[in-house]
Amino acid sequence: MAKQFDVIVIGAGPGGYIAAIRAAQLGLSVACVDAWSNAAGKPAPGGTCTNIGCIPSKALLQSSENYEQLNHHFADHGITASGVTLDLATLLGRKDTVVRQNNEGILYLFKKNKVTFFHGTGSLASKTDFGWSVKVSGTADEDLEGRHVIVATGSTARELPGVPFDEEKILSNDGALRITAVPKKLGVIGGGVIGLEMGSVWRRLGSEVTILEAMPDFLAAVDRDVAREARKAFDKQGLVIQTGVNITEVKTTGKGVTVHYTDASGAEQKLAVSQLMVSIGRVPNTQGLGAETVGLKLDERGFVVVDEDCLTNLSNVWAVGDVVRGPMLAHKAEEEGVAVAERIAGQHGHVNFDTVPWVIYTSPEVSWVGKTEQALKAAGRDYKTGSFPFMANGRARALGDTTGFVKILADAKTDEVLGVHIVGPMASELIAEAVAIMEFRGAAEDIARICHAHPTLSEAVREAALAVDKRTLNL
Ligand SMILES: Cc1cc2nc3c(=O)[nH]c(=O)nc-3n(C[C@H](O)[C@H](O)[C@H](O)COP(=O)(O)OP(=O)(O)OC[C@H]3O[C@@H](n4cnc5c(N)ncnc54)[C@H](O)[C@@H]3O)c2cc1C
Repeated sequence: MAKQFDVIVIGAGPGGYIAAIRAAQLGLSVACVDAWSNAAGKPAPGGTCTNIGCIPSKALLQSSENYEQLNHHFADHGITASGVTLDLATLLGRKDTVVRQNNEGILYLFKKNKVTFFHGTGSLASKTDFGWSVKVSGTADEDLEGRHVIVATGSTARELPGVPFDEEKILSNDGALRITAVPKKLGVIGGGVIGLEMGSVWRRLGSEVTILEAMPDFLAAVDRDVAREARKAFDKQGLVIQTGVNITEVKTTGKGVTVHYTDASGAEQKLAVSQLMVSIGRVPNTQGLGAETVGLKLDERGFVVVDEDCLTNLSNVWAVGDVVRGPMLAHKAEEEGVAVAERIAGQHGHVNFDTVPWVIYTSPEVSWVGKTEQALKAAGRDYKTGSFPFMANGRARALGDTTGFVKILADAKTDEVLGVHIVGPMASELIAEAVAIMEFRGAAEDIARICHAHPTLSEAVREAALAVDKRTLNL
């Protein structure tokens, strides 16, 4: 006899585990099935985000930034240290501990909220009178039945055609998080968020890093002023970035990897590196899910097709997160997970895609929400803009980090905030105020009238809002 649940969630990444917990909190009986195992073969819920994505990358970014500060910036504060050494094993071990604490936290939350967890691969098997049959193959095989199923199986790094990941010389984001000796030269194919973050980690730890990007523009989706400012800072740090390249061949050699490519001018080039990270996008995980068996519709790129409510073509089968359309971000997956759980419980969950923030956790950090200036121009929207440099912000000067600025775009007539773009210290934290204002469809003047603590970086956000109307308080 199959074990029956109101909801079966397949995948325990940020989309799946949040959906499972929210559904349980709303009084539904919930099972969550996840295949991820740690090195000891034990369950490691949390998906890409917890195991090889957001969390470990941020742990390494913090450790490497500390090393960079000690080696290059503490002297400005009159603090010098001699004999500074890098214990890479400890640094990587700390990252593993942070990951493990997050895995354990999720298992604890499952227990606390009475979510039944199954460790294994879940696949949709058939439609039944009760709902859907889901088979679990793992530590113990299980037959489950759910009135509703939420597919939250996430995504995996895309390989360069003909260049499979071996995680020794050709690295995905997974291998790039556990290199055991700092590579003399690291190549990165793909200058997106992941390539820039991992490239920054290894440059700070001592690698010569070269990033090869196919697009002619650096960070093409980012506001042009912000992308230019970030590029200037990365150049200064010695992160070599080439745009407009076309990779023609990748060869592994005894010593490392050689990348043949043509540069933006069409000239043939060769890059020899110890290791090569490939970060050219991600593919949705639908293998083993039973999509064909039950007729779950996928699009031509393999994503599960969903409507605006995250409902698939099958009744009571939903899908959220990286496996469906939209930005591949943990918080987007979480929002969709919560909204679907609420819909199943008869509530009216909602996700506002216009206010999903983006962050690149490099130094300087880059964050944005809403429209870029180039998008407003292309749409023929009448807008006004204000910006404020961190150079003129007291807290930034005290921190010793005055790179970048805040830029606000507002409707020319109504003053409604249409986009906020930040490059500089703590941009990841500062963007939350912009998201809140945009959720309430607030105006630049609303930000300008809010009391901001002094001295804080957030005063730069207020000054940028004042600058929209050509005013300043110069706090
Ligand atoms: C290096 C890196 C850094 C990142 N940093 C950030 C960041 O800072 N901020 C941010 O917002 N996003 C970041 N992301 C993106 C973020 O990790 C993803 O958007 C997010 O994890 C998607 O969540 P998800 O729940 O859809 O899928 P996932 O996190 O991929 O989880 C899916 C889970 O489902 C399991 N699974 C798959 N198929 C099955 C099956 N058939 N049966 C059972 N289990 C299955 C998988 O094993 C996995 O555990 C980063 C990604 C990478 C690679």
